[in-house]
Amino acid sequence: MNKPIPPIVPMSSPDLTDAERQAVLAVLNTPSLSIGPQVQAFEAAFQAYTGSRHAIAVNSGTAGLHLCVRAFGLGENDLVITTPFSFVASSNSLLFERAIPVFVDIDPLTGNLDVQQVAQAAADLKAGGAAAKRWLPPKGAEKAGELKGILAVDVFGQPADMDALNAVARQYNLVMIEDSCEALGATYKGRKAGTLGDCGVFAFYPNKQITTGEGAIIVTNDDRAADRMRAYRNQGRAPGDTWLSHTYLGYNYRLDEMSSALGLVQMQRLEELMQKRDQVAAWYGERLSAIPNLETPYLDGNTTCYSWFVYVVRLAAGLNREDFAERLAQYGIPVRPYFAPIHLHPFMVEQFGYHIGDYPVTEDLGARGMALPFSGVMTESQVDQVVNAIRMVMADF
Ligand SMILES: *Cc1c(COP(=O)(O)O)cnc(C)c1O
Repeated sequence: MNKPIPPIVPMSSPDLTDAERQAVLAVLNTPSLSIGPQVQAFEAAFQAYTGSRHAIAVNSGTAGLHLCVRAFGLGENDLVITTPFSFVASSNSLLFERAIPVFVDIDPLTGNLDVQQVAQAAADLKAGGAAAKRWLPPKGAEKAGELKGILAVDVFGQPADMDALNAVARQYNLVMIEDSCEALGATYKGRKAGTLGDCGVFAFYPNKQITTGEGAIIVTNDDRAADRMRAYRNQGRAPGDTWLSHTYLGYNYRLDEMSSALGLVQMQRLEELMQKRDQVAAWYGERLSAIPNLETPYLDGNTTCYSWFVYVVRLAAGLNREDFAERLAQYGIPVRPYFAPIHLHPFMVEQFGYHIGDYPVTEDLGARGMALPFSGVMTESQVDQVVNAIRMVMADF
């Protein structure tokens, strides 16, 4: 058996220029490293881009989702419908407030929430009794309170079917949180991802469409929630509070000035960054479509712009992904399983008693999905290196 060699193509890379470097350095030449003009300018750029009344910068997507949950009043034992096919932060943000995530399985093509099942779950959860019970976690269901919200995720840069989900939210008076941490720049029927619910969150870890190192922005049109979010991110200081007075229980979720300056330049380059990612995805698509036993990403009809976050292919059922990944590593090509189903993480199994088989579509896609090296700075020849390795491994697999 051959050994893995050091990666010849990185899994992901940020796309940075001298403009970003100079912007960060300029901040370092001022005394203002936090709570200053850069964060305001960064927020203003998002207000302008999304057309939202409020844009609130925070220091991670996880923090942003937590503030959405808290500011919209989702709390102990409240039920919130969400997806088990996501990054763990989306449902963790509910657990921080002791709300109960009610997982609903996904559409096998898009990987986003299955809207028919969401509608059924909402109806059954509102009806209560035995109908409700089949949607609740195996363990702790007796604690279940009322259905209060939906937390939808725009998976891999493709918006969830938000019109259908919003219809359910309106029917049952539910809060709608849109986790657009993977979908900055995407559009749904011409409307921007992140603006389609009561609030949305974009995140800026280095592999996202734009980066601030760590960081995120919440957008919302709700004045009261926005006031709460601004207070909660800043140790619970309400407008008028002095540095040592704290109206609310709060956190330090502030984004610093260096990160904001970096983000502002990245935001000015958003179209270019997205266009480069789109080109890399197109190179992959052209080459991979000819390879058997491998599915390329599905573009939904409602997606008017897919904003590529990761490039995830699916191996045919029956092929062993771990063996496949090991063989690719021997050619120096790194890949990652994407996503690991949330309900099967050890802490989730312990708290809620989930089993393998509870969300079959999520588990199937989770078992077959493989993120390929991807970023806007990838060259066509790097794409060729990845694809050639895949071809060789597939040929004798
Ligand atoms: C990246 C991401 C987040 C936020 O992650 P942070 O690392 O906290 O910024 C949240 N949800 C999803 C689906 C993500 O991909």
